[in-house]
Amino acid sequence: MDNSNPVKKAILGFNSALFCRCRSCPTYPGKNDPRVYCERGKSPLEIKRVSCLCPTCLVWKVNGFKETFYCDTGKDPKSRI
Ligand code: SF4
Ligand code: SF4
Repeated sequence: MDNSNPVKKAILGFNSALFCRCRSCPTYPGKNDPRVYCERGKSPLEIKRVSCLCPTCLVWKVNGFKETFYCDTGKDPKSRI
C-alpha cells in the first residue's frame, strides 16, 4: 500500500479513532488528547502508566501490533501512517 497518500492517511486515522479504547483506559491523560497513539505517535502530556487497553482494541488486532503504552512510547513500528 502507498503510505505517502495524505487522503489515505486521513481515512486510516479517522477509522482508528472510532475504535480506539484510550478514553476508557486508566492511563489516558485526558484533556481531550487526540488518542490513537499507536498510529499517530505519543502524547505530549505526562503519562502515568496504570494499565493499557490496546490489546483489547480492534485497531491493535487488525494491524498485528505487539506493543502497549503507545501514549508513552510513541507509535508502533508497524504503523501504516
Ligand atoms: S491500539 Fe491503543 S492507541 Fe491504538 S487505537 Fe487502539 S486503544 Fe488507541
Ligand atoms: S495507549 Fe494504551 S495505555 Fe495509553 S491511553 Fe491508550 S490504551 Fe491506555
